[in-house]
Amino acid sequence: MDLHNSDFQLEHTGKMPVLFLGHGSPMNAIEENMFVASFRELGHLLPKPELILCISAHWETKGSFLTAMSSPETIHDFGGFPRKLYEVQYPAPGSPVWAEKTKEMITKTEVGLDYNWGLDHGTWSVIKHLYPLADVPVIQLSIDYTKPAQYHYDLAKEIIDLRHKGVLIVGSGNMVHNLRLTDFRRLSGDPYGYDWAIEANELMKTFILNDDHQSLIHYRKQGTAFELAIPTPEHYLPLIYTLALKEKNDKITLINDELVGGSLAMTSVIVNAE
Ligand code: ZN
Repeated sequence: MDLHNSDFQLEHTGKMPVLFLGHGSPMNAIEENMFVASFRELGHLLPKPELILCISAHWETKGSFLTAMSSPETIHDFGGFPRKLYEVQYPAPGSPVWAEKTKEMITKTEVGLDYNWGLDHGTWSVIKHLYPLADVPVIQLSIDYTKPAQYHYDLAKEIIDLRHKGVLIVGSGNMVHNLRLTDFRRLSGDPYGYDWAIEANELMKTFILNDDHQSLIHYRKQGTAFELAIPTPEHYLPLIYTLALKEKNDKITLINDELVGGSLAMTSVIVNAE
């Protein structure tokens, strides 16, 4: 769906939407293309939150952690890109208070507070298009790489109340993400997807739109296209957080539903109250 030419609206119901954003190449932070245009458009439609809590594919830890510093640094966690990308700063404040509050909401597992991370590019490369002024505090929740999808789904359910407290929760990854097979010459320009990537993207969308979360949690049982789409789970798991936060009568809107470089889906999900 092209947000720009649609009558899509976000109802302001007092309950915050939840997002899954396909971030793709770090260059999306500074390039102009259809994906960032639609993030910007989305930013205009979103209410201004009290806090953004981001689950980024690029912060994997043993155990789950929340960033709790008051001024998180902009982390340039990639190599081989133009200098311009390393000069990007996203000086949003953190929030020790919200980190503590969020930690207290989670009782089924121990979540630690972190003072060393900051904002990685999974977070700032997309959030900067939504809130270019960097005037909303941002905290990150890490992905425990030792745990299965069900753990992440259950953990997300524990913070569902944040949606009613003005917090925008954002999962940032790519639901189809196989860098080993990416055709980097076709990363920008016209969308392009391999057959298996198209198949996986279509099936994922069907599961998402039918609220079939069980099939998405058990992604390892979904056959070859899923195996190729999710060779490692870190870019996929933020989607699991986003879907776990969907309440019964929320509706789903898909944006940026395109494949790039053959093996990356930019498909993004907006969960919003009806
Ligand atoms: Zn990434």
